[in-house]
Amino acid sequence: MSRIRSKDTKPEFLVRKFLFSEGFRYKLHEAKLPGKPDLFLPKYKTAVFVDGCFWHGHEGCRYYIIPQTRTDWWIEKITETKKRDAIARNKLREMQISVITLYECSLKPEFRNKTLKRLKSRLLRKPRS
Ligand SMILES: [Zn+2]
Repeated sequence: MSRIRSKDTKPEFLVRKFLFSEGFRYKLHEAKLPGKPDLFLPKYKTAVFVDGCFWHGHEGCRYYIIPQTRTDWWIEKITETKKRDAIARNKLREMQISVITLYECSLKPEFRNKTLKRLKSRLLRKPRS
């Protein structure tokens, strides 16, 4: 149950729907790649992560607020996640795969169009393989 929820979060769906409608094709949660990117676009050799601001510790974001209780535990947990994220992204870059991270806050209704437009132009700037 929770597994399905975490895979099909709304912001990730938005990105998928947008890219698909723009003619981009991608693989979902490619297990062979480090960090199992939410989307992988083989033609553009680009991995896209749609990250929750809290779990992935989006610095300076208003959705990243460490709870007042068990504070140390949360900090440790989120620090671990960030470390894992960084390792996976470095491995991807070593494989000549570009990495684009979209935080959920950038997909809120007021920022969505701008974020998706920027994503599209970043992909189109990439030389295709
Ligand atoms: Zn954020």
